[in-house]
Amino acid sequence: MIDRRTFLQKSTLASAGMGLLPALAALPAYAKPAAATDKMIGIQMGGYSFYDEGMEKVLDFLQNEAAINTLMIYSHTYYSADNRPAHVLASDHGIDPAGLTNRKLTKTWVRHDERFYKNTSLRHFSPDSSYLYADKDIFREIVPFARQRNMKVLIRLMELSADKGMQYINNFERVLTRDIYGNPGSGPCWNNPDYRNWVYATVEDLFHNYDIDGMQYGAERTGALSRLLFQGSVPDCFCEHCRKRNEGKGIDFFRAKEGFTQLYQFIKKVEAGTHAAADTVMVNVLRYLQEYPEVLAWNFQWFRADEEIQQEVYTRIKKIKPDAIVGRHVDHQRSTWDIFYRSAITYGEMATHADFIKPILYHDILGPRLRWWVLERMKDRVLKDLSLEQSLDLFYAWMGFGKEAQVPLNELEPKGMGPEYVYNETKRCVASVDGKSKVIAGIGIDVPWHAPEGLVAYPSDAKRLQESVFRAMEAGADGLLASREYDEIRHSSLRAFGEAVRKVQ
Ligand SMILES: [Zn+2]
Repeated sequence: MIDRRTFLQKSTLASAGMGLLPALAALPAYAKPAAATDKMIGIQMGGYSFYDEGMEKVLDFLQNEAAINTLMIYSHTYYSADNRPAHVLASDHGIDPAGLTNRKLTKTWVRHDERFYKNTSLRHFSPDSSYLYADKDIFREIVPFARQRNMKVLIRLMELSADKGMQYINNFERVLTRDIYGNPGSGPCWNNPDYRNWVYATVEDLFHNYDIDGMQYGAERTGALSRLLFQGSVPDCFCEHCRKRNEGKGIDFFRAKEGFTQLYQFIKKVEAGTHAAADTVMVNVLRYLQEYPEVLAWNFQWFRADEEIQQEVYTRIKKIKPDAIVGRHVDHQRSTWDIFYRSAITYGEMATHADFIKPILYHDILGPRLRWWVLERMKDRVLKDLSLEQSLDLFYAWMGFGKEAQVPLNELEPKGMGPEYVYNETKRCVASVDGKSKVIAGIGIDVPWHAPEGLVAYPSDAKRLQESVFRAMEAGADGLLASREYDEIRHSSLRAFGEAVRKVQ
């Protein structure tokens, strides 16, 4: 079934091909030339926004008022941000925000070709007609409209959590990590060939079947050591695939597991306040790490496994489409506060298999995230012997925050972090990448906050937003990404963003 708009579009293109007029003459009068810059100015969004608000209307707004030239659209909306209610979505898009919690939206926005999935037992969610927009094929429908406007279309693909995988992916339980007690863990195992093959099959399927300009891929996860020391999570993965891989590198499976188990049991005592008071928590942690160096080695290999997937995704896409733009999504914990990840994988290493790197640099929401997701959690565990002020000072010093980027503890939640943080981190990324790939700064706009009472709006100040744009470019960014999701960003904020972009172009 072809809808009227697609039919009209096809007719226009067909008549251009058959007539004597050159193809360009068929472009509508409003088509604009590419922006007077090759800088990528992107936005992340779900396909439903185009259908909710009108495809051409949204494209025109994004191009004309927000200076957007690149669309990053989800091929699959399995991500955890699919639970946002209407009250945290933008209210000035010309329609009442419908929310994502009370609608049965499809999770799969592409058609799959079974032939690509021969080497994996996993299968994507296949919506029946009871799912809203299940009949839509967003990339086939949007590309002609985007091309008319010289806008690029990239697929945004994100790794999914154990919860979403179990909910939507056939056989996902087979690829879940195993924790130290043999129970299923919090996500897929990066060393499981069934999982890897499913990721590769997905990428090859998409690039064979859709005429798209590129992809942004990335996982929003760190490693067992971070999750244990910062959040108290049970360590994983100790599955047969991890064992085989790491033993091949000379790391003893039983020693690694025993070390993680001892450390886990110690952290549980710290949480409960029942650990021995003879030494500080950090002294104890370092004792375990020296006694069981396999813990650090196991943790390091976990990050390398993720990197191998990233590298393979890049290589496979390039084989199919050499001029595809393949970029890397670096989530907030990886870009900003996970010291284990940062010390294991540098931006410079990522740049060897990425055309662009997009670190998340959300200047507003980092304030409450740093306070509640980092400092307060560490206070209950690895940094129990420090005051919150001391922890914050340590954080700034260890992570290399310049004086101007630093915000006092009591201002983190009410004020957010700020534009100097964007400058600081963009500069660090640019220096590490050293010209090997582009750096696209992920500017956070109107990102909601997960407050204890539930999700709340956390609106961006237009001036600070514009200042963040300026500071990212001053630090050497090659482009910008309006983040995190179009549906939660107010049009007034996007106008401010576009105004700032045009000043630096
Ligand atoms: Zn594993």
